[in-house]
This record gives sequence, structure tokens and C-alpha cells, in this order.
Amino acid sequence: MNTLNIQEIIQKQRQFFQTGQTKDINFRLAQLQTLKQLIKSHQLEIIQALKADLHKSEFETYATEIFITKEIDYAIKHLKSWTQPKKVAVPLELFQYSAQICPEPLGIVLIIGAWNYQFQLIIAPLIGAIAAGNCAIIKPSELAPHTSNLLVEIISKYFASDYIAVVTGGIETSQQLLAEKFDHILFTGSSSVGKLVMMAAAKTLTPVTLELGGKSPCIVDTDINLEHTAKRIIWGKFINAGQTCIAPDYLLVNQTIKPDLIAALTRTIRDFYGENPVNSPDYPRIINQQHFERLNQLLNNGEIIIGGDTKPEELYISPTLIDHVSLTDPIMQEEIFGPILPILEYTNIEAAIALINSQPKPLALYLFSRNQKLQKYILQNTSSGGVCINDIAMQFAVSSLPFGGVGNSGIGSYHGKASFDTFSHYKSVLKNSFWLDLNWRYAPYKGKLSLLKLIIR
Ligand code: NAD
Repeated sequence: MNTLNIQEIIQKQRQFFQTGQTKDINFRLAQLQTLKQLIKSHQLEIIQALKADLHKSEFETYATEIFITKEIDYAIKHLKSWTQPKKVAVPLELFQYSAQICPEPLGIVLIIGAWNYQFQLIIAPLIGAIAAGNCAIIKPSELAPHTSNLLVEIISKYFASDYIAVVTGGIETSQQLLAEKFDHILFTGSSSVGKLVMMAAAKTLTPVTLELGGKSPCIVDTDINLEHTAKRIIWGKFINAGQTCIAPDYLLVNQTIKPDLIAALTRTIRDFYGENPVNSPDYPRIINQQHFERLNQLLNNGEIIIGGDTKPEELYISPTLIDHVSLTDPIMQEEIFGPILPILEYTNIEAAIALINSQPKPLALYLFSRNQKLQKYILQNTSSGGVCINDIAMQFAVSSLPFGGVGNSGIGSYHGKASFDTFSHYKSVLKNSFWLDLNWRYAPYKGKLSLLKLIIR
């Protein structure tokens, strides 16, 4: 799309926003219902598009993309209370005033998505943008073209482009969009592109929410249910063939339990995907040639325990566990974002924590342990976007938990109320009346300082 078209869409959205229609709560509720209907009516096409882009199974598409309708229900249920102005206390000396905080929409927001969960990574922020009363421009990733084309088709069928518009294209389109003035940008993608987004946004003083990635560690203690642990790790790592921002990037396993855990993980891979996962209808593929080549190179690190099989013509890499990697290996220097899981060991938990804390702050941190003291210790001594104890990735599915990173893994958060907050401005409103007008703050100040000092004391 050329710059002129982009500018035209933004201008039309600004005009529509100015009419005030998006501020009406009933309008917002109706649009959320429309969005839900859109998903319900096009489930088959969504499943087909994700199959074409990532060889994603119908089950995974329901579980990881279509499930986002739950977020719509949550927003519909809570919208009236979220939009209510909140009365707040005033200090005693300002007794004749009243104060409240009123959420108001920001205006025109830009949502830039990543390819790995192309559908829900666009729809989830859009729910927040609609709920908060904004217009939105959506830019899906060019790397999942079937889902991107589907988004164009269905969004334009249900929403006028002066309210919600989809702009497709690659880096250049993204840059053209970022050169324009928006009222908020929510970007999902890599930390390196996140920095470019923030630099572009700085030029127009646009606030940003950056949903980025990183290397999320998973600590495995000895005090666990081995079978449950293995199933949850294998599920969370190999869903979407490891192309998940909150997948465990590497395991940090207590040395004593490592052989048992490796045996259980290996068994679970076979149970889930069979002897030859290339034949499993449930196992996705790598998004494109470039990512396939990148991951293929990482297979040269350490020693493969299971997996390591590839089929380049299908962009297939089997679920792979790797032992004996060193921290200086490329696999430990970058986010893996694919179906390869290095297994590191620790003998004391302090060393494991020191390793985690020597890296940029991750998006997620996982701990498998029944030991409550250890749970508390790890919560207190590490920092990450979120934590999930005794499970993987499920924190994403809880609408009452804000989802976002910290440090290198992101800025800001969304999901549930956090989405509404992200796309709202909380306007402070103070109200005085005319029944009283004390003279203590007016000039001449002579004789009034002692009263002021009494208040400030
Ligand atoms: P990416 O940063 O390459 O691309 C994301 C978006 O930015 C795309 O729409 C792309 O067109 C655009 N883009 C790419 N280069 C650009 C540039 N130079 N200028 C402006 N725009 C540009 O990321 P990706 O490969 O699509 O996604 C993978 C990354 O996203 C991983 O790091 C992963 O962890 C992260 N991710 C994070 C979350 C989260 O919720 N925190 C979710 C999914 C993915």
C-alpha cells in the first residue's frame, strides 16, 4: 500500500473518531459482538489459513487462535465497569472539591503483529482497542500470507475502514505506517524491531506497547510429578513447532533428576507425535526457508538426544532435545523460536538463578517444583514478564493476568483489563464548586504563610 492510501485511511479514521461514535458504550459492545460473530462465522477459513501458513492442526488453531473469543466475552462482561469514572479521595484541606478518574479513548491506534500466532496476535489487541473506544489500523506480518489475506477479507466485510482497517505489506509498509502520527502503537515482534518501532514512535511522541521475545528459562527441581512435568514441557515447547514467544527456550534441570527427566521427555515426544513426527497430523512446520536455515544451523550445537531430523522441502524439523550445550554456543546466544530444546543442568539453585539473572529479562519464567520455599525464593530473586509454576504457557490464557514483558522482553501489557488500560487515557478530573471561596491562596500573601506552613508541616 502506498503512503497516500495510508494517510487517507488515517485521515478518514480521524474524521470518524471526531464524530464521537466510538465513545458510546453500546457502540463498543456491538462492535465486540460483531468481532465475535466474525470469528464464529469464519472458523473454517481461519483453520484453513493457519494450516496453509504453518501446517497447524485444527485442534491447535482452536486452542491457540480461536480461543481468543474468550477475551471478547471477558471484555463484554466487564466493559461497563471499566468505563465508569472512578471517584477518588481528596485531601482534607481541599474538602470542597471532588475528584475522579475518567478513562477516555486515545484515538487512532496502530497494531503491528508477528506471524507465529498471526490471527490472535492481531485480534487480542484489537479487542482492547475496540473496548477502549478507539479506531484501529492493523498491520499483520507478511510472513503468514494466508492468514494476513484472510484478515483483510473478513475485517473489511464486517467493519468500515474508517473504523478498523487492515494494511498489509512487509517492512516498507510497516515503516510507512510508523512515519505517521498515531495515538498509540502496540507492536508484537522481535526486540530488535521493537527498538526501531520505539525510535519511530519517539519522533511523533507516540506511546508504545512492545510485546517482544527473548530466552524464557524453565527450571526443573527434583520435587515434581515427573510424568506431568514432561507432558507439560513437551506440549508447551512443541506446540506450533516451538514458534511461540512464551515457549521454554531452555531447561535448567537439577542434576539429580536430569536422566529421569530426559527419559520422560523422550517418551512423551514419542507418545505425542509418534516414532516419526513428520507423519503426525498434529505437528506444525517452520514458517519459511530463512527460519528453517537458521534453526538447522542451531542443530549443530551440543549433542542431540532425540530428533534433529529435517525435511527441507516441507520446512520440517522434528522435536529435538539437545544435551551438553555451552553458554557460548549460538543456541544459547539467541532466542531459539523453533522446535529445539537445550537441556542444561544445575547443582545448586543459586547458580541457576545467577545464570538467568546474567541474561536479559525474559518474557516468561517457568518453575516445576512442589517446594513452596523454592517457589517463593525464585519469585523473589528473578525478574521476568510473567511466571508460571508447574505449567507452561497457560498464563497467556488467563484474562485477569496482564500479559507483557519487562526490560528486553517488552514494555507494557495487555489482555483483559490491561488491554482496556493500554488503549485508554486515564483523565484526572478535579471539580470545585461556588459555595465557598477561601482566600488563603490569593495575593496579597501577607499573614497567610503560617497557615500554609501548618498545612504542609
Ligand atoms: P519481527 O520483529 O521480525 O516482525 C514483527 C512485525 O514487524 C511484522 O509485522 C513485520 O512486518 C514488522 N517489521 C519487521 N521488520 C521491520 C522493520 N525494520 N521496521 C518496521 N517494521 C518491521 O518479528 P517476527 O519474526 O514476526 O516474530 C518473532 C518475534 O516476535 C520473536 O522474537 C517472538 O518472541 C516475538 N513475539 C512476541 C510475542 C509476545 O506476545 N510478546 C508474541 C509473538 C512473537
